[in-house]
Amino acid sequence: MLALETQKAFDAYESIRHRLPSASFPKNATTLSHVEILFEHVDGFFLDAFGVLNVGTGAIEGAKKFIETLHKAKKPFFILSNSASMPKAYLLAFFHSVGLPFDASQVITSREVLWRVFDPHSKPSWGVIAQQEQALEQTFSHAFAPDEAFWNSDAFLFLGSVSWNETLQKRWIESLHVKAKPIWIANPDITAPRGEGIYSKEPGFYTLLSDDALFEQMSFVGKPFNTIFEYALQRAHQEWGISKERILMVGDTLHTDILGGCAAGVKTMLLEDYGFFAHQNVDPFIDQSGIIPHFRLKNYETLFHS
Ligand SMILES: [Mg+2]
Repeated sequence: MLALETQKAFDAYESIRHRLPSASFPKNATTLSHVEILFEHVDGFFLDAFGVLNVGTGAIEGAKKFIETLHKAKKPFFILSNSASMPKAYLLAFFHSVGLPFDASQVITSREVLWRVFDPHSKPSWGVIAQQEQALEQTFSHAFAPDEAFWNSDAFLFLGSVSWNETLQKRWIESLHVKAKPIWIANPDITAPRGEGIYSKEPGFYTLLSDDALFEQMSFVGKPFNTIFEYALQRAHQEWGISKERILMVGDTLHTDILGGCAAGVKTMLLEDYGFFAHQNVDPFIDQSGIIPHFRLKNYETLFHS
């Protein structure tokens, strides 16, 4: 895991823009001044986790009040997270530990959606890039990196990058150029803000930025790609009776939350002060990318001022 600055991370996303879903955006973003205005426009919420509820291992101040406000206003929500490095139970335990006691049905992770669409028996053996001590939820033939059996696997599953590094990456890419193999990636994020100006390199960094020959072998599950939105929208329709035009995706990242949300046909809101764009003027990034959210919110304080 190494540091990556905002501008570099943004440029990396822009460089592979053609690999991300296409979407249409509103002409202008509405800058939000009060929570009531939001409730006039939307009935259900999809909330990103990192940069919206927490940064690193701490809850964002105001996130708890925002969640309570949704509860009080009877506005249902799902947490929609590209969290793939650990089973959902770990994420729920983490949220609980920072005072956000969600139940499992309120949280949708890309890892959970992966298991719905991934067929482990499509290949005899899988090399898994993830922390070994966190067991997989499904049983199939696999070896964790960097065991010798990992390198001989027929296909790969990239869940988390904590145990990955540049040396392993170099060897992996070289081996894939010798023999192409399918790769499934359950976290398309290039980077994640860890707080105090630290940005980690996530599985998307090691895969989305690859050359075309390797990219053709890859399947991505998670924002901004459609599978996770499709699953969440299906559940929103069934469980809430709310259609996508009345749902708001709240996120801190233009290329995952906002682009993905707009591609899926929901409304979007960029939360600016905590995650990907913390300490940045966001205007030039919106101008350069043309990724325009429906709403912009600087921070939670803005939402609750009287
Ligand atoms: Mg985020």
